[in-house]
Amino acid sequence: MKNFIYSLFFICSSTILSAQHTYPKDSLQQLLHSTLVESKSYIEKGKVADYIPELSKADKNKLGIALIDKQGKLYTLGDVHTKFTIQSISKIIALMIAVQERGEAYIFSRMGYYGTDQAFNSMEALNTRQKPLNPMMNAGAIATTASIIGNGDEAYQKILKMIRFITNNDSIKLNEAVYLSEKETGNRNRSMFYLEKNFGLFDAKGEESLNNYFKQCSIEVDAVDLAKIGYFFAHNCTRFDGDKTYYNPEMAELINSIMLTAGMYNYSGEYSRKVGIPSKSGVGGGILGSVPGKYGIGTFNPALDTQGNSAAGLYIFEKLSKKLALSIFR
Ligand code: GLU
Repeated sequence: MKNFIYSLFFICSSTILSAQHTYPKDSLQQLLHSTLVESKSYIEKGKVADYIPELSKADKNKLGIALIDKQGKLYTLGDVHTKFTIQSISKIIALMIAVQERGEAYIFSRMGYYGTDQAFNSMEALNTRQKPLNPMMNAGAIATTASIIGNGDEAYQKILKMIRFITNNDSIKLNEAVYLSEKETGNRNRSMFYLEKNFGLFDAKGEESLNNYFKQCSIEVDAVDLAKIGYFFAHNCTRFDGDKTYYNPEMAELINSIMLTAGMYNYSGEYSRKVGIPSKSGVGGGILGSVPGKYGIGTFNPALDTQGNSAAGLYIFEKLSKKLALSIFR
């Protein structure tokens, strides 16, 4: 009898688990709806970034979710066509290009694979180690972009081209006002660039290389574009429409693992426990999620918590992860 009850329990629990994995499609749209409604209360907990003056103009109430399933079907809800600057999320594309060109060993001899308890713009590791902690914090991202081969704005052009390819969206372009605002006020980033140049972390390059970093951060996208990039890394660098030009399981594994350890700034560890989805956020308010073998997810709301992550976006990811059993540790 006891054995019978145990096996009944086992059958029931595995049915529940597999039911979570194959969420019915119309319920998925419903889940997105209820999640979006609930997430609205988190907007007030955040604040739009203003350390780059131009970012402070974002409308705090714009909120959107985009999700692409394994078959490439797109689900959207809310303000998914509102444009915002990609900011830190561009760092995964720069890393992909730099590793393609230079190899992983070269890039990671110049920075670490570490997670962090420091803010995204921390310079501490440059003082203590003479190297950035990882390619997701500003210090590492500036060195990564400076390692991309080419003169002038070539590195930026490569990043833009790759984002346009992955999203199959040639209308993606620079937000000139944000770029100029970053360039004008980015003295902390500028000092990291010169310190790194002094340490010989990249070939001698002029400030146009730092400008490429400012430009890549100022590329405008929407939540759907983020979901498409998330899908790309969730499916071994296959595009949402099946295009395999850049198919590369090794690259997807690298990008996903770096996002998991450092993609959500100093919240990455707790995020890994609570959400468990390789993700990258940006101070423009976007969060991109890559659920390996399954979904690409993009969220947008510009009200950030104290660690620089979109507060409503975090709620959405946590809820979807729980409801759809998306943690990679499940
Ligand atoms: N452009 C921003 C900066 O360098 C990017 C930061 C971010 O999104 O985390 O400060």
